[in-house]
Amino acid sequence: MISFSAGPSKVHDNIPRYLQDACDEGILSINHRSKEFMSLCRFTFDLLKRKLDIPGDYSIFFTSSATEGWEIIAQSLTKTYSSHLYNGAFGQKWFQYAQKLNPQTKGIAFDINQLPHPEQIEITDESDIICLTQNETSNGSQIPDPIIFQFREHFPDKLLAIDATSSMGGIYLGFQHADIWFASVQKCFGLPAGLGLLICSPAALEQARKIGDRKHYNSLLFMADNAAKFQTHYTPNVLGIYLLMRSLKDSSKIEKTDLKTKMKSSLMQEMLFGKLKQMPLVENAECRSDTVLAIKVDKKQWTKLAEIAKKEGFILGGGYGEWKEQSFRIANFPQHSKEEHKRLGKFLQVFFS
Ligand SMILES: *Cc1c(COP(=O)(O)O)cnc(C)c1O
Repeated sequence: MISFSAGPSKVHDNIPRYLQDACDEGILSINHRSKEFMSLCRFTFDLLKRKLDIPGDYSIFFTSSATEGWEIIAQSLTKTYSSHLYNGAFGQKWFQYAQKLNPQTKGIAFDINQLPHPEQIEITDESDIICLTQNETSNGSQIPDPIIFQFREHFPDKLLAIDATSSMGGIYLGFQHADIWFASVQKCFGLPAGLGLLICSPAALEQARKIGDRKHYNSLLFMADNAAKFQTHYTPNVLGIYLLMRSLKDSSKIEKTDLKTKMKSSLMQEMLFGKLKQMPLVENAECRSDTVLAIKVDKKQWTKLAEIAKKEGFILGGGYGEWKEQSFRIANFPQHSKEEHKRLGKFLQVFFS
């Protein structure tokens, strides 16, 4: 069975081997204050920076999930309130989580077929942080790197926070263009769920110091004190960190992965939207995601498709939120090989013709 669900999704083929090694090497029982853990942690930070092109002066933190990232930003990095641009369910949920902690939080919705343009968006002076969802998993739209850069240029005094949960590790991201990035590993990292990453620029940490929040177990300053010693603020998912380290070690640099992801995506799109005359949920190709492809489908056809796909050994992603009844989704993550995409393509070709 191959899962093309948008997360949790298929895991890397090497996971069984890594798991066996973790057992053999005694990783499962190490203490998170031990030398062994500290060197695992340091090596993993180092690999993340090297493989994903994260600037050397950015700090990396382990969290339990991307959702935890939402909360840390609201409690430790937001002085007044955040402004959230969203066009789908995850961006909106982030806005709502932040609003619970900071009632003044602003939400600005935009269309799935339009790229947000910073000069057309009003962000109040008091709002000190702008939140964007780079890859909106619920509808398969994305905000390309040059747009994030435009936000950076247009709002130089505000922190930029980016949810890259379903794209980090799958496509090239210009980390230097934003201050806070986060993701979890069950999507493009091809790992079992239960670990998240939070990445902060020096400016973000400076803001955290000014705010001085230390009220929570996951207050960023407390996390930073621990991360500086290559430790964590609680007993972390050591196995998850080990699997991340092993898979990063075996992975190509992000520039190469990026090309592969985009190539697989265009092949699948050419087939679905060209040859098979299916309709993308996001009609404007400029805002269409490379890692999550959403295709229009009616409910009856989807029930049939999901059922037959399962018999053939494929798990496809259903629609999500507002688009639940009118779309299905195919994940295009690095762990999905070209051959697996071809096999899925053949199956879809039979189904839709
Ligand atoms: C999956 C997802 C999340 C939530 O991730 P968790 O690890 O379950 O917290 C948040 N944002 C986006 C864009 C996602 O795709």
